[in-house]
Amino acid sequence: MSARPAPAVDRDSRPWWDALARHELVLQRCSACRAWRWPPRAICNRCASFEWEWVAPSGRGSVASWIVNHHRFSEAFESPYPVVTVRLEDQADLLLPGSFTGPMDRLRIGLEVVADFDDAVDEAGRRFTLLTWRPEDGADWRRPGDRAAEEAAT
Ligand SMILES: [Zn+2]
Repeated sequence: MSARPAPAVDRDSRPWWDALARHELVLQRCSACRAWRWPPRAICNRCASFEWEWVAPSGRGSVASWIVNHHRFSEAFESPYPVVTVRLEDQADLLLPGSFTGPMDRLRIGLEVVADFDDAVDEAGRRFTLLTWRPEDGADWRRPGDRAAEEAAT
């Protein structure tokens, strides 16, 4: 596994990154109006409440948009690599980004996906985990890094 750029963790996002490291997906949910929100922040954008809790959503959604990056921003990334924006089934306006670990020829708007986790390490040896998405039906799904391992073996 090659070193990858680590995320910038701040006070608001710390619980998000800690949960991903445990392979759990959690999101802030407003205690007053019950709205889910992402990215993490101190105030509800619907009702302005400062009260929230971290709650596990379903982890299921559908692809709302996607791109395939052909430009490598770091030697740590395979190219090309797909990035999706996923609309969670828990709330229609709740969109989460992440890598897509299914076959690129399956990418389409509306593809049903489930959350998954990609463990990584930065140049200093610090471990962190990124959110990824894979097809809900599991067909042709490969863990991150499998593609590179398969190519190295052939
Ligand atoms: Zn609210």
